[in-house]
Amino acid sequence: MGEDVKAIIGSLLINGTQKEALRDGVVIIEGDRIRKVGQRDEVTIPHGIKIFDGTGMTIMPGLIDAHVHLTGWRRGDTTGRYDTALGIARAISDAYNMLEHGVTAARCCGSPYTPSIKRAIEESTIEGPRFMASGAFISQTFGHGDIHHLPLEWVRDIRVIADGVTECRRAVREQLRNGADFIKVMAGGGTSSQLDELEYPQFSPEELKAIVYEAHCVGKMTAAHAHGLTPIRHALACGVDSIEHGTAIDEEAALMAAESGRFIVRNCYTPIKAYEETKGFTEIGDYTEWAFRRHKINYEHNKTTVRLCREMGCKQAIGPDVTGCEPYDVIPKNMKAFMELGGYSAMEAISCCTKTGSEVMGLGDRIGTLERNKIADIMVVDGNPLEDVMVLAPKENIRLVMKGGKPVILRGIKIT
Ligand SMILES: [Zn+2]
Repeated sequence: MGEDVKAIIGSLLINGTQKEALRDGVVIIEGDRIRKVGQRDEVTIPHGIKIFDGTGMTIMPGLIDAHVHLTGWRRGDTTGRYDTALGIARAISDAYNMLEHGVTAARCCGSPYTPSIKRAIEESTIEGPRFMASGAFISQTFGHGDIHHLPLEWVRDIRVIADGVTECRRAVREQLRNGADFIKVMAGGGTSSQLDELEYPQFSPEELKAIVYEAHCVGKMTAAHAHGLTPIRHALACGVDSIEHGTAIDEEAALMAAESGRFIVRNCYTPIKAYEETKGFTEIGDYTEWAFRRHKINYEHNKTTVRLCREMGCKQAIGPDVTGCEPYDVIPKNMKAFMELGGYSAMEAISCCTKTGSEVMGLGDRIGTLERNKIADIMVVDGNPLEDVMVLAPKENIRLVMKGGKPVILRGIKIT
């Protein structure tokens, strides 16, 4: 082995593939790559190398957030919508916050800042997860990306509104010009836009097909926001690669997604939270009547469709759809919801957030699992997430985060 070799040892090793966890696991890292993974008695640790000692802890792949918006927005505070510098400053801090919680890779599904933040991370100006960035998302007028209660000029500043095939093509090409890694499009109604119901399909088939065509021409994937069954069917028929949310999917659409290898990226926690935090109260707090009503619809659908998708063989990834500033318990809370609603085991839920996440990013051959020759994106957590996934929630439990073989978060782990 060459130089820059290090090892991580731990009492348990989860490799992300759903294979049985190893007792007394060891990972040998050389440069940015994983060279060996195994049990203590079968892996020889080269003499004199640095060892990160996670005895009593669990080694596992870094988490992958498959749907975030690095916008710097804060709930109940609209400042970030028009103060660009503030938005960017917060987004940089939020990217670091994600890393601190063990998120080593993320797919940003809509923020004009992320292509540049991604570049700053790659050139080591700042620290953050490995990002795939869509740039601004694309919406039709009167679509989910067109926030109807705001003046149109504000809306146009932060996302792309396109109508007609020509504008749709231009919108995609502009995002590609800005460095987008994939294209995010709003194919149906949502909870945060006032006038479009969840079941409304958005963009005509000609428009949506043109968007997909322009992306696929240059080897980029497309992600479509779709909650209602009609938008889900519409997006699948037009050839998008991932359905974001997929809340009201039925058996036929789930089968179509599964058979064609398309992804469903889920957020199962926020709607539950929104519902549970507000039910029983006549007052609906932060939520307007229309948003609350739609969260309830999503909540009811999630009770059956997470399981349906699992049973139909869909690849489901975890994408909490937040802005990155949260304590980031949204990831383990989603894992828990996958287990409760979808019947996933803890091992499978972890795999949804690691291996499947890497696949939806198009990086399945490089990250997402702890296997020989993969990039060393690894975390060490104090506790056993197979017994309780919520040990992943407090950042104090995340004792080591390694990104590309480099320790980026060290929280009291012994180094010998
Ligand atoms: Zn989103």
